[in-house]
Amino acid sequence: MNISNLINQQRAYFRSGATREVSFRTGQLQKLYDLVKRSEAEVTEALAKDFAKPPFETFVTEVGFLLAEIRHAMKHVQRWAKPRKVSSSMALLGSAGFIVPEPRGVSLIIAPWNYPFQLALAPLVGSIAAGNCAILKPSELTPHTSALIARLCKETFDPEYVAVVEGGVEASTELLEQAFDLIFFTGNTGVGRVVMEAAAKHLTPVVLELGGKSPTLVHNDAKLELAAKRIVWGKFLNAGQTCVAPDYVLVHRSVRDRLVQELSMQIREMYGDVLADGSRYPAIVNDRHFERLTAYLKDGVPVYGGRSVPELRRIEPTLLTEVDWSSRVMQDEIFGPILPILEYDDLEEAIAQVVEQPKPLALYLFTESTEVQEKVIQRISFGGGCINDTIMHLSSPYLPFGGVGPSGTGAYHGKFSFDAFSHAKGVLKQTTRFDISIRYGRTERAMSLLKRLLR
Ligand code: NAD
Repeated sequence: MNISNLINQQRAYFRSGATREVSFRTGQLQKLYDLVKRSEAEVTEALAKDFAKPPFETFVTEVGFLLAEIRHAMKHVQRWAKPRKVSSSMALLGSAGFIVPEPRGVSLIIAPWNYPFQLALAPLVGSIAAGNCAILKPSELTPHTSALIARLCKETFDPEYVAVVEGGVEASTELLEQAFDLIFFTGNTGVGRVVMEAAAKHLTPVVLELGGKSPTLVHNDAKLELAAKRIVWGKFLNAGQTCVAPDYVLVHRSVRDRLVQELSMQIREMYGDVLADGSRYPAIVNDRHFERLTAYLKDGVPVYGGRSVPELRRIEPTLLTEVDWSSRVMQDEIFGPILPILEYDDLEEAIAQVVEQPKPLALYLFTESTEVQEKVIQRISFGGGCINDTIMHLSSPYLPFGGVGPSGTGAYHGKFSFDAFSHAKGVLKQTTRFDISIRYGRTERAMSLLKRLLR
């Protein structure tokens, strides 16, 4: 079916009102839950074919994450969808204000390749919970997972409600020419600009989940062994191909050597020799990214790792020192298993370095000092992050997940997904029992009364 016919069909279905009932939405969420649950083995197989993703990582970051997100939405959607009464002001005596969440209509979800199953279906949870129809465009760089998503959705949903369009830039471009009611895009910042420009033509609202360089600050009072363990886990998960992976470490000079030692020990313990045994460690997604990443190895001195095998597209977890801010590895989002380590002498200097850069998607801070924690949280703008951990903030359905400025616009997960796919309609219900007449007055007396009320 051609794309504009598909959208017209979805629009007609949406206008029929079929997607609005909360019981319909919970029914569809249950279908999505069953889809994810029954497809675990197939998802594991597709991701293994796409970039040798190990089953443990697939379960935790794709299947398990989705099941928790869907369960949370099913439990709360009834409450989220209810109109919410809000306070009225004195000037509106007798009236009541309501916020009525309204589905937006037909949404477009464009997904990246790095968590290809989860990042296509997690936004769909919000779309369904909020009562929308949706078209999904998975990434062409993970073709096995893309085909699987298309087949599973076709088996589960009517295309007038949820449909999948496969393909690359051409398919995306064709979709972006159409008028949607919301575009939810996850991908890189450059493509985010293309999406926002296309959306502007139809004044379509966008949620942009983009990338960037997420800093990790390690202060001199941090518990170094634990910090190293959590940094290594967050950085090398998915071989560093994670939007919120710690991009680089900024460590206080006095603890730098000890941190490097602890990081090296943790990598050895968690991964062993990944070139000999890749059962716990994914490959780089394609040759282009492999070449891009191995070129960064020349921008510093690898004090751990640094070897790679092109035929396997595998790069060792690598710690890179002697790195300069002006080098490529410190200019680009790394998005791979290379961790530059830079030092600071004074926290102020570290904060100044970070705020010089584009606002990041995430920030991680390791310190025992609440004073340092408050200072960093208040002075640096970033999408979201953790104190004394990495990545885990995105696993809480009670926290908004999204970027700021060049790292993104809007947020999702839990209730924030429902809000992203809803329009908050403000409705004032006025009383007819009496009518306060001063607004019609235009007299001196009415004016002075109004001034007293409104000033
Ligand atoms: P990408 O932007 O290249 O691709 C994302 C999607 O956009 C794909 O479906 C692709 O087909 C489509 N696309 C690519 N170029 C396009 C164009 N010119 N016009 C229209 N559509 C186009 O991103 P990627 O390489 O798949 O993913 C990696 C990037 O995504 C990283 O920057 C990463 O930080 C970011 N990311 C962000 C999040 C988040 O939640 N904020 C999550 C994962 C990845």
